[in-house]
Amino acid sequence: MKFETECVHAGQSPDPTTGAVMTPIYQTATYQQDGLGKPRGYEYSRTGNPTRAALEACLASLEAGEFGLAFASGLAATDTVLRLLQPGDHVLAGNDVYGGTYRLFEQVLRPYGLEFTFVDTTDLAQVGAGLQSNTRLVWLETPTNPLLRVSDISAVSRLVKNTSSTPLVVVDNTFATPFLQRPLELGADLVVHSTTKYLGGHSDVIGGAIVGRDPALRERLAFLQNAVGAIPGPMDCFLILRGIKTLPIRVTRHSENAAALAEVLAAHPAVEQVIYPFHDSHPQAALARRQMAMGGGMISFTLKGGAEAARRVAESTRIFALAESLGGVESLIEVPAVMTHASTASSTLAIDPGLVRLSVGIEHIADLQADLEHALDQLQSSTFAFEKLGLSANNS
Ligand code: PLP
Repeated sequence: MKFETECVHAGQSPDPTTGAVMTPIYQTATYQQDGLGKPRGYEYSRTGNPTRAALEACLASLEAGEFGLAFASGLAATDTVLRLLQPGDHVLAGNDVYGGTYRLFEQVLRPYGLEFTFVDTTDLAQVGAGLQSNTRLVWLETPTNPLLRVSDISAVSRLVKNTSSTPLVVVDNTFATPFLQRPLELGADLVVHSTTKYLGGHSDVIGGAIVGRDPALRERLAFLQNAVGAIPGPMDCFLILRGIKTLPIRVTRHSENAAALAEVLAAHPAVEQVIYPFHDSHPQAALARRQMAMGGGMISFTLKGGAEAARRVAESTRIFALAESLGGVESLIEVPAVMTHASTASSTLAIDPGLVRLSVGIEHIADLQADLEHALDQLQSSTFAFEKLGLSANNS
């Protein structure tokens, strides 16, 4: 089956009892058994639930994996992957990971005895130098949140597999989605998602997932999923399954809109730098075009007026809503340093307070362009007025 067909059908077949075309929401905690030790496939919904099983099979199929496991959030999925390790094990991670991932690593897991080093994983030399004899896991996020840095999944996987400790390569594929990038086909061992984002696609559910191929990893991770219990409810699984059905159409439109807006931003006099994986100015544009089918729906940019200008733009758009999260059909704007990435403040991962992040939605491009240009033009004209008065707009 082609990817678009898998999105609609994988893991889902009409309900055998009723013929219901949509996967039913099996809103049950437990299941009647035919006799002692004779369950009909399910015993208790923390361990397994048919709506969740459909989502897990669908995710495995989309990522070209052998198994999928669904979680209550992206961070719950991340935490479960890290529970594969033992105290004293070392993790080499990207130095521009999502703020919540950094917080989990540094503030929750480090005190339990895991070691972390954060390096620029776009630079193979830094990856090589960061590997230690006790490195058990390499954590890549690509493109990263929020700087949209692109790491070479194949090259990092090859490099890592040639070392004696052969750490697992785990890729957070939330920004790209399996429609644009399939890390398991590029040599990664596990893929992690915040299904809250593009997979769910409508900003109405929190969820996470792990997908992989190795049966031994599946066994341990499924054990942890049940033993720790950070599972999603059936209604949430249904919503994510429903979202996935339109993933290719949505991500195509997100990417087309974002590519067009990257050009609009690059041409605007108030903008200092635009960061978009498929934009010619992006340092890894060639790799991004090789590794990803399209550029995705996320753009970051800085303004000549710095943090104050970022605040003013983020507060003055009308269609782009000032909000955290990403990947929904509606456009969002935020300032990561004080919102999604506040937990990295005063660390080496701290984000420039003048950086603005856009999650470009699927609205009409003309409306999105007009909204952004209006916010930027306002900034430009007030800066001009301040300059004429001999004042600094940054001190307003
Ligand atoms: N990974 C990335 C790249 C994210 O952007 C996020 C959330 O923003 C997460 C993981 C965590 O996912 P969740 O919020 O579903 O726990």
